[in-house]
Amino acid sequence: MAVVLVGNDPGSEIYVRNKVKACADLGILSEKLTPPSTISTGELLGVIEALNRRSDIDGILVQMPLPPQVDSRRVLEAVSAEKDADGFHPTNVGHLVANRPAPRACTPAGIMEMLRRYEIPIAGRHAVIVGRSDIVGKPMALLLLHANATVTICHSKTADLPGECRRADILVAAMGRAAFVTRDFIAPGAVVIDVGMNRVTGRDEVEQIWRGDPGKLATLEKKGSVLVGDVNPLDMVELAFAYTPVPGGVGPLTIAMLMTNTVALAERRMAVAAA
Ligand code: NAP
Repeated sequence: MAVVLVGNDPGSEIYVRNKVKACADLGILSEKLTPPSTISTGELLGVIEALNRRSDIDGILVQMPLPPQVDSRRVLEAVSAEKDADGFHPTNVGHLVANRPAPRACTPAGIMEMLRRYEIPIAGRHAVIVGRSDIVGKPMALLLLHANATVTICHSKTADLPGECRRADILVAAMGRAAFVTRDFIAPGAVVIDVGMNRVTGRDEVEQIWRGDPGKLATLEKKGSVLVGDVNPLDMVELAFAYTPVPGGVGPLTIAMLMTNTVALAERRMAVAAA
């Protein structure tokens, strides 16, 4: 696995550290490449091309976001579809649409794995996804559709968002809005998957979200921010049949599925080489 981390974004550094650690825990060789933030699109394409040619590398991951001068789309498309550990390459997105084997976007794939392991029924259920990004919302909708859910995709132009969400047996919130989804959005007994990762820094907001919980206010004092998902955590606990907490819910599974994708890519390349 090669991980390309451009520049020094602190959030990206933490994500990459966790991915490199997961590789080490599993005995997967990983190599971290750290080009400077001044790199041009052409230079970065050269880095990717060199990794595409290396026979000891099965998976390539380019940590997003890239600096503004770099054409992110060109870089992501330059990663060979056969080494696309993130499942973002258009060829692999096409395989997802056609429900054929290929690396899947890691966060939605992790959510499917979680639903499967907790034996949450999907077929015939109504799944509502809030968010239509290429990395979460759209692939999530396709995976749930392939598992025979009836799927509704909501976004910022959806009329009556709370009403749409209340119809969900399975509600997936992936919008990037702190604790936006409150009790008005959640049907009692729904399964609620909270993908959001937001940092709240205002004391009033922390007080309001956690109803004055002194522990959360102490965290704010100590760290300067408190992590919260897209769903109000207390409303979710009170109303949902099952839910994913933030942190500790969806996040760790994203890395686990990245490892799964990498192993599958390695096995596929070995099978092709042996054929
Ligand atoms: P994104 O690309 O910013 O997309 C956000 C989506 O939410 C868009 O489709 C947007 O609608 C929709 N949206 C935003 N505000 C809305 C509103 N008020 N009402 C209805 N829809 C609204 O975000 P993303 O990359 O999908 O990420 C979403 C969240 O998940 C973020 O908090 C991110 O940090 C988190 N995340 C977590 C993991 C993990 O491993 N746990 C992985 C990936 C992402 P439009 O399309 O109409 O603009």
